[in-house]
Amino acid sequence: MKLAARIAVGALALALAAGAGAYAFRRDLGDVAFARAAQHTVGRDRAAELPDGLHIYLCGTGGPMPDAARSGPCLGVLAGQRAFVFDIGSGGMRRLGRMGFPMARLERVYLTHLHSDHFDGLGELMLQAWVGGGRHAPLSVAGPEGVAEVVAGFNQAYRIDSGFRTAHHGADVADPAGYGAVAETLTIPPEGAVVFREGEFTITAIPAHHAPASPAFSFRIDYRGRSVAISGDTASNPRFARLSEGVDVMLHEALSREQVSVMERAARARAQPGLAKILLDIPGYHTTPMEAARLAHEARARTLFLYHLVPPPRARLFNAAFLADAPQLYDGPIRIGEDGMLITLAAGEDAVRVTNALR
Ligand SMILES: [Zn+2]
Ligand SMILES: [Zn+2]
Repeated sequence: MKLAARIAVGALALALAAGAGAYAFRRDLGDVAFARAAQHTVGRDRAAELPDGLHIYLCGTGGPMPDAARSGPCLGVLAGQRAFVFDIGSGGMRRLGRMGFPMARLERVYLTHLHSDHFDGLGELMLQAWVGGGRHAPLSVAGPEGVAEVVAGFNQAYRIDSGFRTAHHGADVADPAGYGAVAETLTIPPEGAVVFREGEFTITAIPAHHAPASPAFSFRIDYRGRSVAISGDTASNPRFARLSEGVDVMLHEALSREQVSVMERAARARAQPGLAKILLDIPGYHTTPMEAARLAHEARARTLFLYHLVPPPRARLFNAAFLADAPQLYDGPIRIGEDGMLITLAAGEDAVRVTNALR
């Protein structure tokens, strides 16, 4: 046998022996790996390790359509060390947890509007903020007229479970005074209004175009010279471009009219008139990627991220078809939002950094 072949056979034998050894000790190896991972992650405040600035957690980039890779609409916002959530769609809470969002510092949830896909994760968030966050006062949930009814429903639905938690963990951990949420109704005039201001931190809201789901709001957040605008659900709205003037990041919902129309024809061909009607109705109160690109151009936004994607692109292969001519309408970068993206806008810098916080 030639030398090279002997080395190859030797290496293979060694690899097999190592593999057999690892297999024999797989339980011990698993114990060691698990203990190391737990020491690294359990109770760690990953958000405290971030630089001072504005951080946006893409905890849900999907819309109402089911998608394995995308939760319902959800954005976490960290301004300095103050934490907020804008919409909490189904699965959003689990993403926030995986991304290291500081639930213990969550101050308020803002609901852009009362379509259920934007709040169907609220119960889970309320529970995690309460027990996981050690709250001693209910969570504030701000939203349009009707938010009090939504919050009252969640408070009632989780009441029995909350009693079990307090009985099991004690009132120090699951303080009954901190259970649930309190609603704050936002009334926003046509010209918009500041809904939160403290030092160099401001949140501004304007009405969005999403009838019959009205009122609906879009938001802009400014913190220490960095800024992000959040469209919520809306048909293309020139006022949102004005609100977004010069922002570092415009986060815009996006619906591909062409792809929804293909789906509508498919539904009709399968004799599903109900589904076809829904698919026919929805483009009217959403914004296409091309319209979003035009708004980002008008606003001179530095970057455009699309979220609330309808239909959600199943793989990156479909991104170009989803965007259609959008890249020709806006000079800046357009990113198709993915669950787990953490956008970092450090104070005193210009950079827009994107990392995958699910890793
Ligand atoms: Zn929606
Ligand atoms: Zn909606």
